[in-house]
Amino acid sequence: MIQQETDCLFCRIVRGEIPASIVYRNDHVVAFRDITPVAPEHVLIIPLKHIASLNDLCPEDESIAGHLLLAAEKVAEIIGIRESGYRLVFNTGKDALQSVYHIHAHLLGGERMGWPPFPGSVTVHG
Ligand code: AMP
Repeated sequence: MIQQETDCLFCRIVRGEIPASIVYRNDHVVAFRDITPVAPEHVLIIPLKHIASLNDLCPEDESIAGHLLLAAEKVAEIIGIRESGYRLVFNTGKDALQSVYHIHAHLLGGERMGWPPFPGSVTVHG
């Protein structure tokens, strides 16, 4: 039995109670398109288990953390950006503007990005 929260938006997507554009799913994670994309390709990868943020990840969740990373490469392949490149972002806490408290990796790509990713930053490598 996977631990879930009744009112968590992303738990509800996991349970199919809220529609989502799902691009990949396995026994541990689900990946779906962000409803407000900030890049040409923007997919969220979440664990089926409710874990609020990286700050709440326990040693017993080690395999879930691994599954999130392993899914990223599969999602990138599915949406066609594995070779062109992509970025994974885990917004954690208020300074990082985390708005949904169910761990999610933003997988971003589809065009050349800048670095570092802070407001006003203009540095672009490559
Ligand atoms: P964060 O701000 O890092 O917590 O990211 C939460 C993300 O969830 C945002 O990029 C939202 O656009 C996205 N989001 C919110 N509701 C939905 C939804 N129903 N389906 C897909 N993405 C969503």
